[in-house]
Amino acid sequence: MEIEKEIPGGFCTDLPVSGNTFVFANISPSFFSLIALIHEMGHAVNGYLQFSEQGPLEEYQGRAEIAELYSHGMELLLLDKLNLFYSEEEFKSAQREELRRAFTMLFGPLSGDLFQHWMYTNPKHTAKERDEKFFEISKRYGLNPVDTSGLEEEIGMSWVGTLHYIQYPFYTIEYSISMLGALQLLENYQKDPELAVESFKKGASADYNQSIAAIYKETGVSFDFSEPVVKRMGEFLEKVIQDIH
Ligand SMILES: [Zn+2]
Repeated sequence: MEIEKEIPGGFCTDLPVSGNTFVFANISPSFFSLIALIHEMGHAVNGYLQFSEQGPLEEYQGRAEIAELYSHGMELLLLDKLNLFYSEEEFKSAQREELRRAFTMLFGPLSGDLFQHWMYTNPKHTAKERDEKFFEISKRYGLNPVDTSGLEEEIGMSWVGTLHYIQYPFYTIEYSISMLGALQLLENYQKDPELAVESFKKGASADYNQSIAAIYKETGVSFDFSEPVVKRMGEFLEKVIQDIH
């Protein structure tokens, strides 16, 4: 799922009886709109392969802990295909924007889980305190260098537009963890595109009863969010950005 505060956005849902998946996206001529569609297509392929390989199970539940690996993975595997949508000059800037997004995914989503953690451990908080906390966390993780004077209230209450805070406890950290896996997929793709696409499909269709680590392994990446891996992926990302001339 990919919801931003702007109107462009989209979602993917499963249709278990027919064994299909369905993507709804609002398309506007914006980078985010395109990335949201690609992101949702990653979820759709994952869902579709699950139905095809694992059967149209009524009790099927998408594995939320691995879902974003295939949406972020799809975004990064299509990094060299963005020229289908952009001119040569815009293409490079779109690639940089996607990589900037990948970079901010490594730390930005923490703010969502921190906010939920604060709400659950302070159940008696007032609406005003909640907005103030959201503003404080947003400032710390995303808006730090931006002058937000006069917008405290708007930013503070903007959490309402994100359904994760209402429906999905502690989900946002998944965006950071899965981005580490998606970056490994991109690393694999740069070495051997065909193999990386094959392992993407293999992992996306793997038995969902396995552990997260086993599913990551089938995808050709490791489930590891230790400091050395974060550092290695950060450096890899920096190199990919520098390689775009
Ligand atoms: Zn998603």
